[in-house]
Amino acid sequence: MILFGFRWLSWGRERTRRANYCIACGQTSRFQLRTRMKFFYLYLIPLIPVSGKQKVYRCTLCGATFDRAEG
Ligand SMILES: [Zn+2]
Repeated sequence: MILFGFRWLSWGRERTRRANYCIACGQTSRFQLRTRMKFFYLYLIPLIPVSGKQKVYRCTLCGATFDRAEG
């Protein structure tokens, strides 16, 4: 079985200083600031980066990600 495709790889656990309202779960949450890049994967190994680095904010309560923190 051949496993390949494109997947996001993200890292970073830095927390934002202020709490923000999350539109996904409707709660006020601290967000994690994460960096992500899209990779071409082969056999679950990220081989080739196909995008630049992006900053995303991840809600620590529901796990939804946003391009920027709302609120
Ligand atoms: Zn949320």
